Amino acid sequence: MAAEECVFCKIVRGEIASERVYQDERVVVVRDINPKAPVHLLLLPVVHFTTPADIIGLLEPAVGHLFTVAAEVAQREGVAESGYRLVVNAGPDSGQEIGHLHMHLMGGRRLGTMG
Ligand code: AMP
Repeated sequence: MAAEECVFCKIVRGEIASERVYQDERVVVVRDINPKAPVHLLLLPVVHFTTPADIIGLLEPAVGHLFTVAAEVAQREGVAESGYRLVVNAGPDSGQEIGHLHMHLMGGRRLGTMG
């Protein structure tokens, strides 16, 4: 999908409303519109990639930065101690709905085992 049409690119550009909890030059973090946990954030790289396969060897630092920011926003949201789950969906079998690489951060309740 072209970046012009991508929902997450539109969120990053401020063309679609979202609740931003963090941003820097590489990542924007928003609350998921359909939360699956009391804390459900989406970490959106500013640059558009479709899946992790697109960034292998190319922008590993950008993906590493997602983990750094995840730890920061987990602290801010009060789930750093209780624990949280980071999820990256890739492709049809994962249920990835939006073709802009992103990381979910979910916490605030006991999460079920991964299925
Ligand atoms: P995925 O299945 O990994 O592609 O996850 C996409 C996520 O984006 C879902 O959890 C949706 O609820 C969420 N989502 C879709 N549109 C928006 C939006 N406009 N603002 C915030 N979250 C969204």
